[in-house]
Amino acid sequence: MPRLRAPVRPLPQRAWLITVPLAAAAILLTVAAQAGHSVPAERWAVAALYFGLFLAAEQTNVQFEVRRQRWNASLSEVPLLLALFYLPPLPIVVARSTAQLIVYLRRARTPEKVWFNVANAGAATAVAILVTQTLVLLKGDAGPRSWLVLTAAVAANALVTTCTVTGVIALVQGRIPTGHLVRAAVSGFAVSSVNIVLGLAVLLIIQQSPWAVVLLVALLSISVLLYRSYQQLMSQHRRLTELYDLVRAVRAAPDGMLYDVVLRHVRQLLRAEYATLWLPAKGRHLEVRLSARADDEGLVDVVLTPDSMRRRAVEQDRIVAAGPKIGDEETQQELQRAGVKDAIVVPLHSGSAVIGTLEVAGRLGDDSASQFTKGDVQLLETVAVHAAVAVENSRLVDRLRYDAYHDGLTGLPNRRRTTEALEESVAVRAPGEVVAVLLFDVDRLRDVNESLGHAAGDKLLIEVANRLRTHAPPAALVGRVGGDEFVVTLRAESAEAAAELAVELRGLVCDPMVFDALTLDVDLAIGVAVHPDHGSDPETLLRRADVAVTAAKGQPGGVQVFSVGLESRSVRRLELAGDLRRALDDGQLEVYFQPKVTLTDRRLVGVECLARWEHPAHGAVAPEDFVAVAEHTGQLGRLTEAVLREGLRRCRDWADADRPLSIAVNLSPRTLVDPAFPAQVEALLGEYGVPPEQVTFEIKEDGVTGPTDRPIPTLRRLRDLGVRLAVDDFGTGYSSLSYLRRLPVHEVKIDRTFVQGMATDPGDHAIVRAVVALSLQFGLTVVAEGVESELTLDLLKDMGCEIGQGFLFSRPLPYERLEAWFNARTETEPTPLGEVRKLRAVT
Ligand code: C2E
Ligand code: CA
Ligand code: CA
Repeated sequence: MPRLRAPVRPLPQRAWLITVPLAAAAILLTVAAQAGHSVPAERWAVAALYFGLFLAAEQTNVQFEVRRQRWNASLSEVPLLLALFYLPPLPIVVARSTAQLIVYLRRARTPEKVWFNVANAGAATAVAILVTQTLVLLKGDAGPRSWLVLTAAVAANALVTTCTVTGVIALVQGRIPTGHLVRAAVSGFAVSSVNIVLGLAVLLIIQQSPWAVVLLVALLSISVLLYRSYQQLMSQHRRLTELYDLVRAVRAAPDGMLYDVVLRHVRQLLRAEYATLWLPAKGRHLEVRLSARADDEGLVDVVLTPDSMRRRAVEQDRIVAAGPKIGDEETQQELQRAGVKDAIVVPLHSGSAVIGTLEVAGRLGDDSASQFTKGDVQLLETVAVHAAVAVENSRLVDRLRYDAYHDGLTGLPNRRRTTEALEESVAVRAPGEVVAVLLFDVDRLRDVNESLGHAAGDKLLIEVANRLRTHAPPAALVGRVGGDEFVVTLRAESAEAAAELAVELRGLVCDPMVFDALTLDVDLAIGVAVHPDHGSDPETLLRRADVAVTAAKGQPGGVQVFSVGLESRSVRRLELAGDLRRALDDGQLEVYFQPKVTLTDRRLVGVECLARWEHPAHGAVAPEDFVAVAEHTGQLGRLTEAVLREGLRRCRDWADADRPLSIAVNLSPRTLVDPAFPAQVEALLGEYGVPPEQVTFEIKEDGVTGPTDRPIPTLRRLRDLGVRLAVDDFGTGYSSLSYLRRLPVHEVKIDRTFVQGMATDPGDHAIVRAVVALSLQFGLTVVAEGVESELTLDLLKDMGCEIGQGFLFSRPLPYERLEAWFNARTETEPTPLGEVRKLRAVT
């Protein structure tokens, strides 16, 4: 008898719509067929035998697998065929319907299903009887004519059953796919044909000799035994194939579909109503609690298994299963309370650690065979091993991907991720909006690292990252794009609005940071570049924000919006690197000399050596530019040596010409980090035969102190050589006046901006006065730079400042012009120390 796949859900009330008419038809047709004939008692005895045969045949629900298709077959048509031949109508219907009733009651089906199947068996049997009566089956004649009649009758039985089953399934489940229908019909009729042939053969044998029944029973028993072992083999084979399919599907699962693939396969493999994966929240990963459910396409976050089972599986690290055929009593009761038939929970392992659970609940189908077995538990355990590996692998891949896009220290998106995000942002143009790039540079991070250790530097960076994250607008992306560089990108109204935000953020982030006993002051410089004004791709925007941040460092507000003017300088500097190397090789660098003069009587006391470079293509390059290029391209040492040699050579010349003149040479802070520098100076002094006290090194204020506010050791070694040291550009840095005393210096050069401003700005005036007073008190020589007017000169003289340097006396001059200059403007004057040159007063 053909059977369509049993509906998953119990037949609802609607099934009665078919069951009741079927029952009515069965009764009516049987009564009509039996009308006018009585059934002798001994016939009922034979009917009892047939009842047994029907019962046995229904039990032989065999399954075959042909070309990976499952075929269900029952032998119940064989006794039907025999009964049609040997029994009157009523006993046939009664025997068959009763057998059906018993079978379905034992399978514990719902009343709807039991009665449908009973009515169906009754009706189909009645129709078959009707066919034998219509075509006139001659009892006692087992010849070909009877074969045809019996074939037609059994076929009619199959047809009715197919129609009613299809009808009831359609009624319950809605439309049935045509494919299913065709397959069911074909399988049904194939099975029926086999049954008919078998039935006819049995009929003929019995006709030959009733004793043949004994042989038939023996044959049947052997077949059943063989079939049993075949079925076991088949089901093992099927499970292996399904397991193999699962493993392959999991391995090939597309990105992000892993859970979906695992759960769908597990559910199918174990024929469960629910297959569930549970992974607790871990690190960045949120909790996963997903199920594949029968009749649902995607995954749902509904779980059937009780939490207590899962908890026990994880805590005790063991499989927890419960159901009619598996597990313990206690769990079984728990399940029943939850209204679940059976369930298996298997822990997932990574090494020896439990990383989650794989669960199935509710074996599909509602007959006694539809329950999880020990075999299912083993199967799920095997699947869980593969699933755990797959989950671990996918998390590993996820981790690698995350690491590739995030900064390990702060957890912020890294340069790569930031660039990609920027790329996405600039692709979307919104009128009245710009994409702003705010580049934050943490000032003096190197100092913190060097003086307090990298742990402190790390803390500082993490804190800056946290503050940026907290204070940046919610829609902004905060990333770390370099050691001490952070980026905030967001959409803003305009570049100005972005700059305002930068100022605000700087204020919020720059609060002192307290780490236990340590309080760190951070300073941030911020460069702003916006799309589309300053560039259309992330690289350009970031580079230009970088240009702006470099400019921002020198500014009080610490914020600078990019402008083309800024870039030209840095771009030029970049181009200059190679040219500078050639210039140093070819001696293209020149040294100019600017006189230092006593203010009271304008005596020439020395010259400052200032490097000059006439670029063959660009013309004169500002010393700030090429000094910076030299610093960043490792050529500083050569530059300093070139200037120092030229200065010493001229110093020697002047001494040889009986006009001794001291020289001052500028040093960059980086030169002082070079421990070999003092020895090199000593060697050069020896080479040119210049006494050390004739040489002054000018070091900018920021360069004289190390990160801990202690003088750099090189300074002391230079001083021990006997050369003089001067603090250049005094007043522009961070150090306080009192601190001058602790430095091993001889001279202070007041920055020219104060000197230039002192005639008009009372603030500058006060600063210069204070510096002069204090320096004198500490016994230091004070030099005022940038003296441009007589008024300034007078003010400086009044304060007691001794020496000046500036355009009022002379611009920096090349050696020959300096010679001419001071021949024309000086007269030698004998003093107790020898002759000195004195400038003629210029009025
Ligand atoms: P600095 O050491 O402060 O040099 C003095 C600068 O002030 C010189 O600029 C000079 O031309 C300028 N100056 C002198 N008198 C006046 C004045 O009355 N008014 C105005 N407005 N300016 C005046 P210069 O030559 O352009 O040098 C700039 C800076 O470049 C120097 O500042 C120094 O820091 C650096 N530098 C120059 N040569 C060297 C060198 O050989 N080595 C190193 N490391 N740095 C150098
Ligand atoms: Ca200087
Ligand atoms: Ca200076």
